Amino acid sequence: MKKRIAIFGSTGSIGKQALEVIAANPDKFTVEILTAHSSHELLIDQARKFNPNAVVIVDESKYHAVKDALSSTDVKVFAGEKSLEEVAAFDNYDMMIAAIVGFAGLKPTLKALEGGKAVGLANKETLVVAGDIVMQKAVENRVPVIPVDSEHSAIFQCLVGETRNRIEKIVLTASGGPFLGKKPNFLLNVKREHALQHPNWSMGAKVTIDSATLMNKGLEMIEAKWLFNLQPEQIQIVVHPQSIVHSMVQFEDGSIKAQMGLPDMKLPIQYALSFPVRIPNSFPRYDFTKSSMLNFEPPDIKTFRNLALAMDALQRGGNLPSILNAANEIAVYGFLRNRIGFLDITEVIERTIEKVTYIPKPSLEEYFESDGEARNFAASLIKI
Ligand code: NAD
Ligand code: MG
Repeated sequence: MKKRIAIFGSTGSIGKQALEVIAANPDKFTVEILTAHSSHELLIDQARKFNPNAVVIVDESKYHAVKDALSSTDVKVFAGEKSLEEVAAFDNYDMMIAAIVGFAGLKPTLKALEGGKAVGLANKETLVVAGDIVMQKAVENRVPVIPVDSEHSAIFQCLVGETRNRIEKIVLTASGGPFLGKKPNFLLNVKREHALQHPNWSMGAKVTIDSATLMNKGLEMIEAKWLFNLQPEQIQIVVHPQSIVHSMVQFEDGSIKAQMGLPDMKLPIQYALSFPVRIPNSFPRYDFTKSSMLNFEPPDIKTFRNLALAMDALQRGGNLPSILNAANEIAVYGFLRNRIGFLDITEVIERTIEKVTYIPKPSLEEYFESDGEARNFAASLIKI
């Protein structure tokens, strides 16, 4: 039996790599759903190649272009944001690869879980915003949430066979991004093009900027809390510039397990798709005899204050992570459009956190409201 896959965000960095893995394993997977925000031409190409049951183009102005291009096929074409949830509720797939970026990925992922679908989760913002509700839905519907984020895939892989053993702590590794070792006087003047140059990974723009500010690691701490049911004190960050150790788990006897390999997102994507089995591939292998310098150091949270803000949100919980996330999405958007400087990103987040009311135990509705309120306030600060 082939596993039937739905890729939400198929035109992005993760989505395209997921399709590469699937194309290399046609005996194991079929593609049933593809979705894109506005890259309609790529979506059309993907649909022609993988012949899914349905596609969604969120940007409604592109609907006719997609519909016409696929008129000779039997691919169903949907448009608009609401269609994402509608299609996520379809019964024609087994696993969703949640590869939309940002808050927009939350609602379709909830629909997949409600429909009893396994989720391969790349979209960390989903857990940052409403991790308690998302994980509760997974438990209620007895479906797994399998991490695609490389650090969390590493932890997940280290935990195989350890169900009866308590985690003492996890160590999430961070590359440090392009500005590792830099100080605020340097960061003041960095430009978008520089921040988009990640040393080890080629990713979408938003997560690349988050890696440069270290917000990515903060979001990943919150993601880890929900995925692995951890207390904030059990999550440690270490900067490891080579990105060979993808993360580690320390058990109660002091033993530490690490998952390692060359940095290549196709590996955690493939693992999520094929779990619980591993499938062979010909990706390049890491060779210890060629480059064996692996360094580790603590993060500089005085310079990269986004990480300190995220650590505080992790500690205090409630709707704070959703406020932090919304403000960050707006601030990164502003930075990518040259509206604000690199250090202003932190300022926008900090001021938004001060402004939006803290709710210790929010409902899903309240998470949505906090997101909207934080987004509007952050946007007013940078005048977008
Ligand atoms: P990307 O920007 O390359 O792609 C995003 C995808 O989502 C595209 O298909 C786009 O069409 C779609 N999309 C964007 N906005 C949307 C909206 N409002 N509504 C519906 N669809 C929308 O992003 P990416 O780098 O592939 O990252 C996707 C997610 O995976 C992010 O949450 C990111 O943090 C996470 N992630 C990515 C990487 C990576 O290597 N790229 C690694 C770890 C985690
Ligand atoms: Mg990661």
